[in-house]
Amino acid sequence: MTILQCSQCSATFKPYPPQFKCEKCDGLLEYVHDFEQLKQIQIAGPFTFWKYRPFLPKVTNVVSMGEGGTPLHRAKRLAEKIGLTEVYLKDETRNPTNSFRDRCGALLVSNALDLKCDSVICASSGNIGASLAAYCAKSSLICHIIVPKMVDIGKMAQMLIYDAVIEEYGEVLDESIERAKSVAKETGWYQASAELNPLVIEAQKTIAFEVIEQTSLPDWFIISMGSGGTIYSIWKGFKELYALGRIETLPKMVGVQAEGCSPIVNAHLKEKTETVSLQKPSTHALAILVANPLNGAWALRALKESKGIAVSVSDPEIFLAEQEIARLEGIFAEPSSSATIAALKKLSSQDVIKPKDKVVCLITGSGLKATDVLQALTKKRKTAVVGLEVSTKEKILRILSHKSTYGYDLWKQTGKTMTRAAIYQHLDDLTERGLIVAYEEKGRKYFRVTNRGRRVLGAIDELKVLL
Ligand SMILES: [Zn+2]
Repeated sequence: MTILQCSQCSATFKPYPPQFKCEKCDGLLEYVHDFEQLKQIQIAGPFTFWKYRPFLPKVTNVVSMGEGGTPLHRAKRLAEKIGLTEVYLKDETRNPTNSFRDRCGALLVSNALDLKCDSVICASSGNIGASLAAYCAKSSLICHIIVPKMVDIGKMAQMLIYDAVIEEYGEVLDESIERAKSVAKETGWYQASAELNPLVIEAQKTIAFEVIEQTSLPDWFIISMGSGGTIYSIWKGFKELYALGRIETLPKMVGVQAEGCSPIVNAHLKEKTETVSLQKPSTHALAILVANPLNGAWALRALKESKGIAVSVSDPEIFLAEQEIARLEGIFAEPSSSATIAALKKLSSQDVIKPKDKVVCLITGSGLKATDVLQALTKKRKTAVVGLEVSTKEKILRILSHKSTYGYDLWKQTGKTMTRAAIYQHLDDLTERGLIVAYEEKGRKYFRVTNRGRRVLGAIDELKVLL
């Protein structure tokens, strides 16, 4: 028998509908399973989310789109670059809507069907909204999503194409959650906000179950933190495996936040058991932009119980890490999950994580969902092209400033890195701008630098001092 129990006063409640707060003491509620009964069960069947169905609260109407059973990649090149030996990436981008939240989408929508609800509501800054929208579409339920102002555009596109009813409310997720709470109260719609439904923890704990089937127990498990529920889910998964006697020790949990938004990290460093709300949170990793983490107490518990570490990383560190795992491992992760790699680098350089330690980083969702980095990369590409043109013209000018010569010779001197036609195009451009001038000598067309050209070269040199 599975019960819903208060993590503070141990009061118990009926498991459904899922509630997240204790009516008596306001503590967070979580599902507690009968381990004696579970010890008898053999885990069998295909490697998917539903393989662990006996370890989840009971559902009857199962909705599935092939969630879970995601790969665990050994990141050899990344590990080598950081100076570690065993780094693994749990690749949740492979789920039906490209994030770990599909585990929740499947379980919550199944539960909503069991409870005969015809509408679901959630507050979401992206992944869970996209996922619920898809699972609701498949199950013919109406999906209402309250989104804050700042939402990753790719996730918004998913919510729209799956035909969710979208309402924008609040600057950050915290306000959207309050709105979702009051709408659910008024309408009786199924509450599917990740922070308000303890089934989310159950769904996500299966990530720990899968990792233990894919490899031996890691020393460290690194996860980014927004509301704080995800790190607790994985920790709960490991604790259950431990209680069942399936593992002999537990990993240390590392919780990562962005420097501009790190209420859980701050609370952990001050050894608090509750988080304090931030006034002006800011990060481009929108999936972890949460000012007042409703599941902060859970995250702090996971960090404390596992003797883990909380660490914050800057946005530039996050984007650099995003490019690194793409270039070294072929994985395109969203910024919030790339933060785990940035943290790994930081902790390794501080010798907190030792070279021989085994580490798993949770890659929660696909980089295609978050366009900040895409915009930055497109800009970079454009600058790279412009920069190349400038540098070729500059190169030609420099060659000519030493000695006047003709087109074919210039082509040879520039290392034949482009077509001769391109060289002549640059020569035309430079002539048009009055930086060089053409003249005839021995029946050949020669070019020399004008005074204006020399002044421009001088200006470039001065600029370079500044760069
Ligand atoms: Zn209580």
